[in-house]
Amino acid sequence: MLKDDLKSLVTQIYKNLLEQIDEQKDATKEYVVEYFKEAADIISTIKNDDIHSIDQAKLTFINAYKEIATRSLSSYEHTSDRFEELAQMHKETLNECHQQQINLPVITEKFNDIQTHMTNEVKKANATISELTKQIKTLEETSNIDALTKVFNRRALTSYLDEICSQENITYEFHLLILDIDDFKKINDTYGHIAGDKILIFIANILKKTLRDGDKIFRYGGEEFIIVLNRIDSLHCKKITHRLLELIRGNKLIYKGQNINVTMSIGTTIYAHGDTPDTLVARADEALYRAKHNGKNQIHTELKNGI
Ligand code: GH3
Ligand code: MG
Ligand code: MG
Repeated sequence: MLKDDLKSLVTQIYKNLLEQIDEQKDATKEYVVEYFKEAADIISTIKNDDIHSIDQAKLTFINAYKEIATRSLSSYEHTSDRFEELAQMHKETLNECHQQQINLPVITEKFNDIQTHMTNEVKKANATISELTKQIKTLEETSNIDALTKVFNRRALTSYLDEICSQENITYEFHLLILDIDDFKKINDTYGHIAGDKILIFIANILKKTLRDGDKIFRYGGEEFIIVLNRIDSLHCKKITHRLLELIRGNKLIYKGQNINVTMSIGTTIYAHGDTPDTLVARADEALYRAKHNGKNQIHTELKNGI
């Protein structure tokens, strides 16, 4: 990491800690120690180029989510405590109303007071919710991980391909696969969007389980994944691609007691000298188009100049 990165990391950790202490009713020394321990663990696992480590990217993402969740819980607790206090005040004021002599101006003032407090608490809670929502959005925008399937996202793909294609000389074979779920729109229409989401997670898990650590899986778009296989020959790549196709079509998915058959079409290509990320993906996309056009649930390969 660069000196500036380190400085901004430490500043961020310090800032977050101060914010969390401010938010807690009783901040303890133990909490601060625990926070620093966790921060130290995170820093020690950071690699210089974290796109190469999905675990690192995930850890950073999960920890950031965890922090937002903790903050939202403590904020909820605080609001809830305040509401309990206000409810108690409300009860006491109502009791006073049942007494023989009612002092109307005093009671009215009390109710108005409760009303003002309630309105303020709701305002504060709303402000906290929109602040946390904003933070989640920023987190998702700066993360390398797709929130639904937990594979790398499209932003990560762009920087990964940029890096590979900018190398002077690539001496190993490097294959790029685009996988697209067949008739996914129909699946969504028939079984619902939630079933569709579960299928995306299910497919991502099959890909993760089947591929090696060094292979990269990206969610390219809605129901499209890109896989980059490094340092393998075409025969081996073909075997893996067929295995993926078989595993997906062979799986019987059951959602709310109904069987859902899922198949995918795959377009593949090999990096050739002079390729840019765009030409590489466009060629795999062309292969995918042919696989779809030929009847789906199959693989097609497209090479530069047909070589
Ligand atoms: P084809 O076999 O030609 O690929 O047809 P298709 O229906 O799979 O392709 P199309 O591009 O017509 O539709 C893709 C559908 O994927 C439409 C969209 O609603 C759905 N989709 C995209 N992203 C998500 C998502 O995150 N969750 C769910 N459930 N559906 C999604
Ligand atoms: Mg598609
Ligand atoms: Mg599709």
